Parts: sequence; C-alpha cells; structure tokens
Amino acid sequence: MRTARGALQGAPGWTDNKQVTTAVLVAGLAVVLTVQAVLWRRQRRLAGALRRSQNSLRTLVRSSVDPVVILDDALCITFASEAAGELLGLGTAPLAGVRVTDTVHPDDRAALFGALQGGTGESAVRTARVRQPEGRWRLVQITVRDLRGDPDVGALVLHCRDVSPSAPAPGADSELLELALTDPVTGLPNRTALIGRLGLLQRGPRNRSYAMAQIGVSGWDPQTLSPGEEATVLRALTSRLSRGLRAEDWLARGTDGDFVVLVQGTISDAEVVAARLVATIGRLATSTTTVPLTAVAGVGSLTPDVDPGETLRRADLALRSARRSGAGSVHRYDDALRAEQDRRGVLRADLDGALDRGELRLVFQPVVDAVLQRTVSVEALLRWRHPVLGEVSPMEFVPLAEESPLIVDIGRWVLLEACRTAAALDDAELSVAVNVSARQVRSGDLVPDVLAALEDSRLSPARLLVEITESVLLDDAHVIEDLGVLRRIGVRIAVDDFGTGWSSLAYLVGMPVDVLKMDQYFLAGVEHDPSRRAMCRAVLQLGTSLGLPVIVEGVTTPATLALLRDMGHRYLQGFLLSRPLEADALAAGVQLAAGALRGPEVVAP
Ligand code: C2E
Ligand code: MG
Ligand code: MG
Repeated sequence: MRTARGALQGAPGWTDNKQVTTAVLVAGLAVVLTVQAVLWRRQRRLAGALRRSQNSLRTLVRSSVDPVVILDDALCITFASEAAGELLGLGTAPLAGVRVTDTVHPDDRAALFGALQGGTGESAVRTARVRQPEGRWRLVQITVRDLRGDPDVGALVLHCRDVSPSAPAPGADSELLELALTDPVTGLPNRTALIGRLGLLQRGPRNRSYAMAQIGVSGWDPQTLSPGEEATVLRALTSRLSRGLRAEDWLARGTDGDFVVLVQGTISDAEVVAARLVATIGRLATSTTTVPLTAVAGVGSLTPDVDPGETLRRADLALRSARRSGAGSVHRYDDALRAEQDRRGVLRADLDGALDRGELRLVFQPVVDAVLQRTVSVEALLRWRHPVLGEVSPMEFVPLAEESPLIVDIGRWVLLEACRTAAALDDAELSVAVNVSARQVRSGDLVPDVLAALEDSRLSPARLLVEITESVLLDDAHVIEDLGVLRRIGVRIAVDDFGTGWSSLAYLVGMPVDVLKMDQYFLAGVEHDPSRRAMCRAVLQLGTSLGLPVIVEGVTTPATLALLRDMGHRYLQGFLLSRPLEADALAAGVQLAAGALRGPEVVAP
C-alpha cells in the first residue's frame, strides 16, 4: 500500500507543487530580506538623527554660558545642564520629569507659560521669579527658544540667567525687588537692573573685557498705535534682538525705544554684535498695521575707572551721533565724542550771525483746554535751519547760546516775533508763551525787552506768558523782583518743566508764579507705571491747592490723554493734539488741535 505521502508524491502534478513551494519560499525570503533592509536603513537613519540631535544638543548646551534646560511638549525637563539645578532651586535632585512651571512664582507662570506655548518658532525673553530652597525668590531671565520644529532638536530650549543683582537682604520683599528690576512690557531687565549689572562688572574681576551697545529703534508713532499694539511691537523687537545675540551677551531695556546689550568682549566685538542687531530691525506687522522700524547703535567699552552713569551717558552720546548719520549707523563713543566736539565748535561759531542771516524762526505748539475744547495758548519754540547741518534742535543750540550774551539778543528777537505773530491772529483770547532762559532773566534786560515787544506788537500783556525754569526762582532777589514787575503789568509767569528740579515745594509759596507746566518725564510709560500716575495726580493737586492751573506737556497717545482727562487734568499740550506749527499754518492748526480731543480722525497732520 502506498503511503499517503507516497500517494501524494506519486500523484500527478507533484513536480508542479514543488516548483510552487520553491517560488513561495524564495518570495518569502525576498520579503524578509526587503523588510530587514528597510528596518536596517531606518535604524541607520534614526541612529544618524540621534547622533546629529545629540550633537545639536551638545552644541546648544556648550555654546551657552548660561544654564540650559530642555523641555518636552508637556513642559517637563528632559535635560538640564550642570548649573541649572542650582539656579532653579532644585540643587542636585534629579531634574528629568520635573514640570518647569512648578518652580516658578504663581504670578509669573502665565507669562512664562504663554512663551512656552507660543509654538511660533520664535524666541521670547521672560523674567520670572524662581523659588529657592530657603524660601526666597531668585529673579531669572529666561530666553525661550522654540526648536520643536527643528528636526535636529525637536524641543523647547531655555537659556536661564540669574539677573538678581545680588542676593536680597533677609526680609527684602522679592516682589518689590522684581518689580523694581523688570520692564513690565518686555520682561527684560530694566535700567535699574542694568545699572546694577554695570556696577557688578565694574567691581568684578578684570580678567575679561566688556563693552556696551545701545540700540535705538525708531519708526513707530505711538499716536497711531494703541498701548496694546505698542507692547506688541516692543515684545516682537525683544524677540528679534534676542535671536541676534550670542549666548554671552546680556540684553536689557533702555528708555523709550532703546535697548542695551552688555557684550563680553572688546569694543570691536560690540560693534559686530550691534551691526547684526541693527540689521535685524525692519518692517514689523502688528494685527492692524505694518510698522517700518529702523535702528542705529552707539557702542563704548566698559572700563573700571568709569562709573555706570557715565558709561550710559557715553553710549547715549554715541547713539545720538549715530542717529544723526541715519538708519543703520553704528558709532563708537570715541568717534562720536570727537564728532560732537567738532559739531559743537561749528554750531557755536555759526550761531553768531544766524539771526541776521535769517536762519532762525519760530514754530508754535497749541495748548488745549479739555473742558472748553478749545486752544487757549500756543508755545513759541525756536528753530534753527543751519545751511549745512540742516535743522538743529533747540535742545542742542540754546545751551550753546546761553554760554554767551548771544542768548539775550536771541531772546529779545523771540519775544518780539512771538508777540507779533499772536497779535496778528484773529483770536483775541489766544495767549502766546515764550521760553526765557535763566541768563536772559539774570541779564536784567527781561523787563525792558518784554515792554518793547508788547509795545511794538500792541499785544495785550494778559496774552503773554513767560516760561521760566524752576532754578530761576531760586536765583537772587532782583530776578524775583523783575518777575513781580511783569506780573503787575498783567504778564503771566509759568514754571516750565515743573517737577524735575525741585528739592522742596516750599519755594513755590509766595513766588511770582501763575501757571505750572508739568514735565513730560511724568508721562513716559504712565499707562503702565503707578508711581508716575501718582505723580501726575500729585502735581495737579498741588496746583489746585496753590490756585495754579497745570499744563501737561508731552501728551502723545490717546491712552495717556484719556488717563489725564479722567484724573481731571484740563490743559494739555503734546504731539497727539498738535505738533509745533509753522507761523503760516497757525490759524488753521489751532482749530484742529482742539478737534483732536474728540478723536484721532481729526488730528492735525
Ligand atoms: P520746552 O519749553 O519744555 O518745550 C517743549 C518741548 O517738548 C518742545 O521741544 C516740543 O516740541 C516738545 N514736545 C511737545 N509735545 C511733545 C510730545 O508730545 N512729545 C515729545 N516727545 N515732545 C514734545 P523743542 O521745540 O525741541 O524745545 C526743546 C526745549 O528747547 C524747550 O523745552 C525749551 O526749553 C528750549 N527752547 C525752545 N525754544 C526756546 C526759546 O525760544 N528760548 C529758550 N530760552 N529756550 C527755548
Ligand atoms: Mg517751554
Ligand atoms: Mg517744558
């Protein structure tokens, strides 16, 4: 009997079956080999990616002098460099898996969390308080780099820097400390923190050189941006600048649109960093508009013999010099100083005769009454168009004129010209304010010059306001007598830039004063700064209790205008209402300025 197998083997078609089986085996083997090849290639790719990724992480960590923390999507630490544990208050405990926001002050979490969740591929800089084991808070500046889209890194990378100037004294209020050191809009260290850091570097070991770059950004008009949009611009700028920094550079907020970078290296290094940062500034889109930003920079080195205040002043001088050369310029302090001295020499020489050559003129800036909604006065402001240097600011040339008796001649001409222009206007209630320098008052010529101007123009004395600075009131008795004479003939006296130079309020009592002009300083950042708001209220209350009207100078944004009106401020002057007007545009501009109180659509061009 044939076995079943034999039957099978002997069955017809056996040879065909054998061929089929062989084919199936070969095909199966081919599939296995292909799968293995694919797996092997993927493994190689993954190994390569891992190697590259590890290399990238190593580069990231090594290239930073600051502790680096790497987070996964759930904001848990996957890697932390050596010093990070100590900075985050976690000592030597294992950091992997710790949720980074748990170490941060509850009030700072939202801002930091927002930056961490951004997902924009951008950098953001935030300052946050981080808990320390002994219960105090350490102020840490965190630059968040979103590299989740980067195939080599695929994570959030945090560069953390301790920006506490020193350990706070026991019992010091860390919230106050943080508020005092952080710019509320950008989260960057503010000017106080900057001065602290400059002092530390100055006192620190001399084995490294440092330089400073001050970046001045311009091109946005607060008049056309809401406070929210302005904050967006400042934050976007912070982000752009942070990306252009090297790990060893330190960014802080300066005043207005300025930023300051402390650069580890020579002045040439600072120049390179500054040029790179200036080049990153360009057009910037907000939700409603595109802002054409430009930047310039001033650089200087930090030397142990120069204190922080002087260091900042030098960088500022270099910045101003760069501004005069136009967008994109980077100037060194030394060159700027030389250029400044040369320029001052030229201006000083050319000012003599500028009046006779017809290079001086007056422009007029309206002061509006927010209650009556009308322009009540205009301030005469001197302008000099230099034949070669173009428009020169009175901030620059008036102090030069004050160095010589020239200021008395110029002041006499200003009085005459201002009174003539006001008298020619078809508005018998509009006053004109004239700035009078201390030297002019001291010369003893003020009273006869005012009388001559009033007589020549036939302007009523009640329509003339003489603006003096606080220091003039502290001068000798004859100055006070002269001001008293002017008041007796009906001319009013205003104290200009009020609030900047006072040491005591007592001097105001019994002084020949009719009006206070609050300095623009109090309005810088007033929307965000409670102490400046308090000062604005205090000056108004002081005026009210002394029976003196207060004019607020420097109203530039609708938000500030609303804030001042809510406080009860009535007399307002500033670019929002009207820029200074040329004499021939004065009559029309005076009407438009009051209209600007009602909304931006009627703001004077
Ligand atoms: P000031 O008397 O305090 O004049 C106000 C200055 O603030 C003016 O600068 C004006 O253009 C500017 N200003 C007005 N509104 C705003 C604003 O909203 N924002 C900003 N950022 N600035 C605003 P200007 O014309 O450059 O004059 C500067 C200073 O030069 C004057 O300060 C005054 O101290 C002096 N000055 C001007 N004209 C004369 C003059 O005829 N004689 C004397 N002795 N000094 C003058
Ligand atoms: Mg003035
Ligand atoms: Mg002023």
